[in-house]
Amino acid sequence: MDQPTYLDNLFSYIKQSPTSLHTVATSAALLNGAGFQRLLESDSWNNLSPGRYYAVRNDTSLIAFTLAEPLESITLFRMAGAHTDSPALRIKPNPGQLRHGYLRLGVEVYGGALLAPWFDRDLSIAGRVSWQGKNSPLQCSLIDFQRPVAIIPSLAIHLDRDANTNRTIDKQNDLVPLVMLSEEKETPDFRTILTQQLLQEHPEAATAELIDFDLYLYDTQPAGRVGLNNEFITGPRLDNLISCHTLVQGLIKNQIRRTGLIVLNDHEEVGSVSTAGAQGPLLANVLERLFPEPGRRQEVIAGSLFISADNAHAVHPNFAAKHDPEHLPILNQGPVIKVNANQRYATNSLTGGLFRLLCRKAGVPCQQFVMRSDLACGSTIGPLTAAELGVPTVDIGVPQLAMHSIRETAGHLDGWYLLQTMITFFTEPDAGIRCPEINF
Ligand code: ZN
Repeated sequence: MDQPTYLDNLFSYIKQSPTSLHTVATSAALLNGAGFQRLLESDSWNNLSPGRYYAVRNDTSLIAFTLAEPLESITLFRMAGAHTDSPALRIKPNPGQLRHGYLRLGVEVYGGALLAPWFDRDLSIAGRVSWQGKNSPLQCSLIDFQRPVAIIPSLAIHLDRDANTNRTIDKQNDLVPLVMLSEEKETPDFRTILTQQLLQEHPEAATAELIDFDLYLYDTQPAGRVGLNNEFITGPRLDNLISCHTLVQGLIKNQIRRTGLIVLNDHEEVGSVSTAGAQGPLLANVLERLFPEPGRRQEVIAGSLFISADNAHAVHPNFAAKHDPEHLPILNQGPVIKVNANQRYATNSLTGGLFRLLCRKAGVPCQQFVMRSDLACGSTIGPLTAAELGVPTVDIGVPQLAMHSIRETAGHLDGWYLLQTMITFFTEPDAGIRCPEINF
């Protein structure tokens, strides 16, 4: 795959992944296409033979792995993780509100979203609905309206002369999307609208009663290239779909030559404490099933490396003072190794050194990030996974601007660079790396 094809594939992956549910479905489809076999958590996994496998939890988290040799011969896993979720607006259970002839939908803010960019965007709705047919058990289906069906119009500046100097956003009252005009006295039933959409996308639900839903708003503008030389890419949810896509593609390239694993966790944007989050038991559960004996499992974990991939803050030229002047990640100059003295990132000189050598082996540049000493540092799935499993971990990610905006900006080369690094990680016999604790 060349770099332009990689970008086309990334843009298509983003378009097909408006929610964490869809990210997992899109990733699973890629893995199925590459010959991975799905394992159900409710089945027995005894005596898995060498091959390619994946499992899904909650429809929002996924683990895929390749076993290059029989389980009893495995000494280490090349592991990498990313998160499937992004900040968004989630539709409330009873969302319909008829006000002045408009049907509005009540929403909650999911994660640490930048709210201002949600105004004046052509929004659509996607997620999961549960439904029951006549005499059948409860079923779940993904839906995606795909077309713009909602808008949150700004208040005109004529009605708020301080808009450019003093406007704040009230999440309960200001951030309510409009979906239609109605002359009815009664509030139109949102569940009827959803049932129609369900039938359109899933004809098998013909006699269905819609029971419940997990639905989110998203921006319909597709990802694309920007810049006089096309040097930027812009799009929704680049944090962290670039990493998810790259990890899936990297593991697929593995061809069962090495034993590798990727975990795509949900709920990173809300603290990762959930059945599908990095502070939940998903990865530990899978390793327990592969290596039931605790001592043996710990031997494998101790010999492994976990690469936690989550986007990093590139220096913004209009706000450069927000960065440490000696640590200024630049777009298109390679993946960023993230370091924090207080363990908000899990990187140390061993794991960071291994990642540097991987980049060198892959022929791509890399950079470093540390937060200003007078600003609080964010975190990601790396320290949580390291703490849960005790696995040596490095936190890295592609540099980007406008993190948690509805539309983010990155460089056109950095995802491609990260992919080369991940392919090296997952396929090279020793990746050119040898150290006392971790032998690749
Ligand atoms: Zn992230």
